[in-house]
Amino acid sequence: MSQKRIAIFGSTGSIGTQALEVIAANPNLFSAEILTAQTNEELLITQALQFNPNIVVIGDEKKYNKVKSALEKTHIKVFAGEIALEEVAAMDCYDLMLAAIVGYAGLKPTLQALEIGKPIALANKETLVVAGDIVMQKAIEKRAAVIPVDSEHSAIFQCLVGETRNKIEQVILTASGGPFRGKKPNFLVNVKRDHALQHPNWTMGAKITIDSATLMNKGLEMIEAKWLFNLKPDQIKVVVHPQSIIHSMVQFEDGSIKSQMGLPDMKLPIQYALAFPQRIPNDLPRYNFKSVSTLTFEEPDLKTFRNLALAIEALNKGGNMPSILNAANEIAVYAFLRNRIGFLDMTEVVEQTMSKVAFIESPTLDEYFESDGEARSFAASLIQM
Ligand code: NDP
Ligand code: MG
Repeated sequence: MSQKRIAIFGSTGSIGTQALEVIAANPNLFSAEILTAQTNEELLITQALQFNPNIVVIGDEKKYNKVKSALEKTHIKVFAGEIALEEVAAMDCYDLMLAAIVGYAGLKPTLQALEIGKPIALANKETLVVAGDIVMQKAIEKRAAVIPVDSEHSAIFQCLVGETRNKIEQVILTASGGPFRGKKPNFLVNVKRDHALQHPNWTMGAKITIDSATLMNKGLEMIEAKWLFNLKPDQIKVVVHPQSIIHSMVQFEDGSIKSQMGLPDMKLPIQYALAFPQRIPNDLPRYNFKSVSTLTFEEPDLKTFRNLALAIEALNKGGNMPSILNAANEIAVYAFLRNRIGFLDMTEVVEQTMSKVAFIESPTLDEYFESDGEARSFAASLIQM
């Protein structure tokens, strides 16, 4: 395998930093061609000095001078701002984009990369939640692969290798259940951010950690699965599996179920997506059947974790409803992280926004952008009251 030049959009985040560990462990296979951050200029500079990319982008334009002067003695090109992120994504200087920006902000650079036919290793699930039809259509049109990084979708993708002609009956996404599994609303009403930020099995960025605690993450993943694997809503199931050893499953039309298993470590799906179609060796810890000898499964509690019920509603409704759900959820999660609203209020914000913003059955890309903006303003107005 020749060296793949990787463009990491969101290199300073949880996925981005782990991807750089994978690159550092495999210098003959991968190089970091583009690195981007939003505000964390210190880490971006450190990464740039270590990995010597061709280009870095800092989203926050106020930090441009600092990054530029820190990299003055190198050949690294420095850009800043939201538009620069899109322009750099459209440059034909890399082999694979790792889409690891969090939230809606990841959509436009990913679309630019697809426009020039670049394969995507997709961590940023919100991209597919907001405009999955347009993104996947673009990937097909440009013959660009979209390889999932999200562990559940990586599992499904791995189960489907060699099964192209075989019909899927259903996919079963596993969910850890998060830190509040088994809890009821009378407990959740008092939950504070620091408690919600402690996930039992995974260490991740703040937004996805809160989404995991509310089970919104699993709802976003159902929508992500619909687009990645071209499924109908009723083919996508969720089962709570607290040990996070089975990362997801595919049931074929003969009833046979395939799963992909391993310890919960994002470096594995990241490495798989970067190296695909090859598997490469690593020294990550291995699952030991003796130390976790019992794997358990239970139904998700949709009455308590209503965000998952709302996401299923959006999945069934289609059109711009998932993008409305996503926009309201982003506003609600950041308000919760700033201690502006309570844990259960996040669901209220999402539910009210879904009932308020106009439904469009087959939106254009501009209509997706508009309903995202409308949903954000409405959700924000609920929080200010
Ligand atoms: P983090 O919050 O840890 O990192 C986000 C990255 O995006 C950082 O590099 C950040 O820069 C950058 N960023 C933030 N806001 C913007 C913006 N407005 N414009 C451009 N760049 C921005 O997130 P994670 O790494 O946890 O998650 C990234 C994506 O991967 C999410 O969509 C998440 O759902 C998905 N994912 C993550 C998993 C995980 O284990 N973490 C597992 C499965 C999926 P800065 O550091 O400067 O703020
Ligand atoms: Mg996941």
